[in-house]
Amino acid sequence: MKTQINKVLEGIPASPGIAIGTAFLFGREDFVIYRRRISEKAVPNEIARFEEALIRTRQELKELQASLSNKGAASSKIFDAHLLLLEDRMLIEDVIKELKEKKFCVEYIFSQVIKKYIDAFSQMGDSYIRERTADVSDVGKRVLKHLLGQRRNQISLEEPSIIVAHDLSPSDTATMSRTNLLGFITDIGGKTSHTAIIAKSLEIPAVVGLQIATRVIKNGDLLIVDGNEGKVILNPDTKTLRHYQREKDISIVEARQLEDMLRDLPAETMDGRRVTVAANIEFPSEVDSVIKHGAEGIGLFRTEFLYMGREDLPSEEEQFEVYKKVAEKVAPNPLIIRTLDIGGDKFLSQIDTPEEMHSFLGWRAIRFCLARPDIFKVQLRAILRASVFGNIKLMFPMISCIDELRDAKKILSDVKRELSRKKIGFNKEIEIGAMIEVPSAAITSDLLAREVDFFSIGTNDLVQYTLAVDRANEKVAYLYRPTHIGILRLIRMTIENAHKNNIWVGMCGEMASELPLVILLLGLGLDEFSAPPISVQKIKYIIRNISYEEAQRVAEEAFNKNSADEVEAFLLDKAEALLRRCHGEKVCDFGDLKKYKI
Ligand code: PEP
Ligand code: MG
Repeated sequence: MKTQINKVLEGIPASPGIAIGTAFLFGREDFVIYRRRISEKAVPNEIARFEEALIRTRQELKELQASLSNKGAASSKIFDAHLLLLEDRMLIEDVIKELKEKKFCVEYIFSQVIKKYIDAFSQMGDSYIRERTADVSDVGKRVLKHLLGQRRNQISLEEPSIIVAHDLSPSDTATMSRTNLLGFITDIGGKTSHTAIIAKSLEIPAVVGLQIATRVIKNGDLLIVDGNEGKVILNPDTKTLRHYQREKDISIVEARQLEDMLRDLPAETMDGRRVTVAANIEFPSEVDSVIKHGAEGIGLFRTEFLYMGREDLPSEEEQFEVYKKVAEKVAPNPLIIRTLDIGGDKFLSQIDTPEEMHSFLGWRAIRFCLARPDIFKVQLRAILRASVFGNIKLMFPMISCIDELRDAKKILSDVKRELSRKKIGFNKEIEIGAMIEVPSAAITSDLLAREVDFFSIGTNDLVQYTLAVDRANEKVAYLYRPTHIGILRLIRMTIENAHKNNIWVGMCGEMASELPLVILLLGLGLDEFSAPPISVQKIKYIIRNISYEEAQRVAEEAFNKNSADEVEAFLLDKAEALLRRCHGEKVCDFGDLKKYKI
């Protein structure tokens, strides 16, 4: 197939920045195919491995066929076609020839040859041959499974690469080695999917929802990932490469300058309103980046990542050590620990959970914890014990009604009592918060506010649940709008109810880092912004360059608009005007603000 130069794929920007590097395809299956070089001497061994894999696949297919024909299934005939393919001389010779010529491991060579066949078959005019594509792909996967010994791989890269995947689960992402990882791109996914969130945390440019990336990109292709604009450029020419390399260098310098300028200054408006800009983390190791970027503490620690990608559950002692260490590092600033939020798109392999039709609406977060107090209590004990070492606060995710919140608090009281009985120290005044991420919680926030010390608005879920738009589905991403008037009303209601009850209210959803929206949120009276560490100083820049009074006026005017588009255009305009106004002290204009699409 002819290589396409400068082919542009459009997707959804998930994590800002530009990455330039070679593609590494992470298969839909559980295995990863490495492009491992082999020596001349290793070629016969690779051929023997290939033959062995073919024999095993043949045995497997025969067994499958026998089991189906015993039951009289006509579908066993399909395996005749698969068996024929397995014996196809041309395919086998192609693999051996390429192996001898290119000297890469056989799984890599075989996957490339199979891809070539699939491409050729899928472009045939004859519909019968076209339909054989699925057979080739199926047989290919079976052989690969045997070549790789059916092992479940974690992603680890031997050379600097960009991961290209149909989808990446949060657990794939959580367990992958960061060494040599330049960027992510995926066929599916939305801007606030947990994979996108992790990419931002790792400060790795990412584009999701590209739909056809894994079909058109081959292992080893040169890619530019433009995480600002949501674009991927396949096999760029020298001019394009030079342009992006320059953009990349400029944005790194700009970000550094901005941080140097703002790191030690408060997040205070021009007329003296002080708010907090904190950071979100998924992994304890990120605490260094929180400090480096000058965040005022951690507004959300997604603790579920401590539980993922491992065979056992983390013990109380292990969790205690993690929470203590992170709390000590950010002290005296706060560390807000969110209790386990699994379910939705995050699963634990250690626990047998039922497959759910609508996992985001199902056995998730606080619902799971209330049903499994054995697991919940271990975490609560660890958090409470760590609370004497720093400024730890605790919050419960996905609260949908007051009873859930009371039940969670009841379990917390039991654990506190147990610790007191054993004379184990903890902060008796530890602040307790509720995440407001379910519409019913926002609507009843006047009642919930009486039960807690603070709120943290989780817009990633609040948007998905209010607008009935799956946050991880690129097909409906166009409907996922934090500027929807319904969302703005829920946010305003939550902030007002919090303040009426004298509690503070933060936001830890991605909306808090959408720069044009910062003005609106500030004007609505939000007390704390918690965002990926890389966004912290940009948020502060906006806050420091506007008065609270002006932000309030902007917020008021935004509420007179009728649609998400109108609000978005209006806020973008205001943010651009603010940046133009700051031009005098220009250190950074964030490039084109439209990059930060809402
Ligand atoms: C949210 O829903 O906005 C949130 C911060 O939680 P998560 O993204 O982990 O669901
Ligand atoms: Mg959430």
